Amino acid sequence: MSQMNIYDPEMIRKECIQEHGKLLEQAVKTLAAKGCKVHLAKDSAEAAAIIQSLCGENQKALCSFSSELEEINIKQIVPQVVQTDIEKIVADGLGKAFYNRRRAPFDNVSSEAITDVLKAYRKTDTEEPLFRAVSRQIKEMANESDWGITGLDAIAADTGTIILAEDQGNERIVSNIPARHLAVAGLEKLYSSNDDALESIHAAWKNGARKDAPVYYSYITGPSRTGDIEGAMVCGMHGPLAVHVILLDNGRSTLLEQEKSDVLKCIECGKCADALMRFMNGYEVPAPLNCKTLALANLKNKYQITEDAWNMLSFTCPVNITMDDLRKSMQ
Ligand code: SF4
Repeated sequence: MSQMNIYDPEMIRKECIQEHGKLLEQAVKTLAAKGCKVHLAKDSAEAAAIIQSLCGENQKALCSFSSELEEINIKQIVPQVVQTDIEKIVADGLGKAFYNRRRAPFDNVSSEAITDVLKAYRKTDTEEPLFRAVSRQIKEMANESDWGITGLDAIAADTGTIILAEDQGNERIVSNIPARHLAVAGLEKLYSSNDDALESIHAAWKNGARKDAPVYYSYITGPSRTGDIEGAMVCGMHGPLAVHVILLDNGRSTLLEQEKSDVLKCIECGKCADALMRFMNGYEVPAPLNCKTLALANLKNKYQITEDAWNMLSFTCPVNITMDDLRKSMQ
């Protein structure tokens, strides 16, 4: 896809899936060459063991929101971790089961209710405007944290660069200020190049958030290092001393082996979530809810979806995942 001038998110996603073995091999080498510590986790239990061995219970940790961190239940693995994503904090505070960062579920929520949640999150009462006080508190916590834990939007396998794309700026804080950065990415987040990754990221924002692009991008190519001082290479000057990347399988290989991998094309735009929410009536909702997370959750917890529920479903997916793809992946 990198040699072509016309970008089509679906073609890019198909290529990522078809080439995933090659991309994985390449990414493991390029990430390690740039100084990242790479871990392969076959399931969420392995990911949990790796994370617990790194972030002991006495270490301070912050996290941002991501589908992978929800998938492995980061709060259970690192109970002391503090969430920094404002929308996630509010969703949790309001007891909202569903959350997608491109489609925050606050349509019918009063500003007073949101204010109450953020006031409870804020540690000290100050004269500052509430949002500014919460932002400052997050930065102060980041300064004192041993670990910043994030998901990833993409990994460019050719350069070993990990990419975060967001609107709030909290992923930038969490990945950059604490002493160490730990990133968790599903295997389907591997792209052959930065151009391909950006095309998918933009498609997710256009379809999910109805805007052309997110506000912030972070490109991380290994731990922070500089040769500015007398030409000697020093690590940790402007960012974390160490970057750990966990590449998470957790059922993705099974979908690939069983030729049910079309759902892995999903770019997590969130567009289908409303339709799927109705479909999940009475079931535990995988979060964030989309065809991919539903298919992955179904591998462990078989959903007995009725014919009527299937027939009521309709949505338009930007990478053309169809009802048949979803149905096939869940059989
Ligand atoms: S399945 Fe399609 S519509 Fe749903 S979140 Fe994924 S890309 Fe978006």
